[in-house]
Amino acid sequence: MNNKKGQVQCINDEILEKLSLKTRNKFLNYNLMSFLKPKHFNFLKQAQKFFEKFEKKNNITHNEDFYEWIPEIGRNGYITRMHKFDNIGLDFETYGMTTEFMRVLAMDFFDPQLAMGAGATVLVVNPLMLHHENVDVRLKALKELVTGEKIACICITEPERGSDAVRMLTTCDEQEDGSFIVNGEKIYQTNGPKADWAVIYAVTEKNNGNTMAQLLVNTSWDGWEVERVNIPWTPRMHIGKETFTNMKIPAEYVLGKPGDGREHLFEGLNLERLGIVCLNLAEAWNAITHAVIYTNMRKQFNKEILKHQGVGFPLSDLWAQTVSMTLATLNICQTIDDKMEKLGTLPKEFNLALGVTASQLKFLSTKLSERVVYECANLMGGAGVCDNTLMHDLLGISRIQEIGGGTRQIQQYIMSYSLRQLFRLL
Ligand SMILES: Cc1cc2nc3c(=O)[nH]c(=O)nc-3n(C[C@H](O)[C@H](O)[C@H](O)COP(=O)(O)OP(=O)(O)OC[C@H]3O[C@@H](n4cnc5c(N)ncnc54)[C@H](O)[C@@H]3O)c2cc1C
Repeated sequence: MNNKKGQVQCINDEILEKLSLKTRNKFLNYNLMSFLKPKHFNFLKQAQKFFEKFEKKNNITHNEDFYEWIPEIGRNGYITRMHKFDNIGLDFETYGMTTEFMRVLAMDFFDPQLAMGAGATVLVVNPLMLHHENVDVRLKALKELVTGEKIACICITEPERGSDAVRMLTTCDEQEDGSFIVNGEKIYQTNGPKADWAVIYAVTEKNNGNTMAQLLVNTSWDGWEVERVNIPWTPRMHIGKETFTNMKIPAEYVLGKPGDGREHLFEGLNLERLGIVCLNLAEAWNAITHAVIYTNMRKQFNKEILKHQGVGFPLSDLWAQTVSMTLATLNICQTIDDKMEKLGTLPKEFNLALGVTASQLKFLSTKLSERVVYECANLMGGAGVCDNTLMHDLLGISRIQEIGGGTRQIQQYIMSYSLRQLFRLL
């Protein structure tokens, strides 16, 4: 049996067997098969099969250091499917936002903390895709990340500048040869201590976002130091606090010159937030799947607990909300894919509208996922909160998602600002 191994077995063999990755994947597929295009459904099944085999072959208990799995996962093409990547010789057949959503679902069902960590590497892949300008070192870094040879982190947040990210304190000073010298501190970077590559943001004038630059950094360079921040809700993820001391960035690693960095930062945020939406939904589905299997098998008062209205009705309620949020997300993923297919890029107007949609979906899906996971754990009783299943990992992660990628209040700020803009058009 392949499942999470707890310290002490609390769930009986029969139910644990049924909570296997294979059966959970099956439940998800019955839910999605009517709504997905064949190419996306086939990709989902292909990715699920890969993770099922990977788990079995390596006897994975989900207590391991998941960073060690990344090279093999990358070699098989499951770190990101946002793009075709034919510019680095990969040529994925199935790719795009919907495919990425499917990849996240398959990876999260296998291991939620891995899915969150891999998501941070994708945040570096996207700017490299947009701003490589065919420069060798950038293309090389891009390929290393997509194929899982290397790991990456994105450095925006600073100890004194969180939500107010644009008014940065980390500085970059241009030198005569076009290189930059960077000094400052960043904090809460997902993958920070494990990262080989980083994309960092810095300003030529403190507190002035209009002077922001976007820079690619090899973390083995002099001047990069990192400490691990302990986030007890995600114990297997490595989060960093970085200090840059006179770190020299050669000219070919400058992805956006001072003045361009701010636009580059915002351009990445839409995709980052939609990526979080996909993760939130994967977490909600994963929890519902655990709860549906468990409550159909666990008996109390001589009947399966699902048959008690106090369990079956709230579970259906969580299921309905998750289905409807999934359909909304599939719709936006498909719209993005259609535009990319027709135009090769996202038009400026659409990107602006997408900014608000990404905030709306991020805001609602994070709240939904936190509630769904907690309530599912609750409906499973002690089995939902012990360490025998992935429910505990899901509980930790779903509590954090509201903070990363812009807090709940920042999403509300973006949405209310947009209501003002819309009113002005009337
Ligand atoms: C697990 C995890 C992973 C992360 N990964 C990354 C990463 O990979 N890269 C990276 O750069 N950062 C990352 N972050 C950082 C994250 O983006 C920030 O934590 C977040 O932007 C909030 O910043 P802060 O923590 O400084 O909180 P603060 O900005 O200090 O906010 C504290 C509280 O004040 C509220 N607040 C602030 N301003 C306003 C306002 N104007 N109106 C109303 N309320 C307001 C906030 O909503 C929040 O509730 C991560 C964080 C976590 C927890």
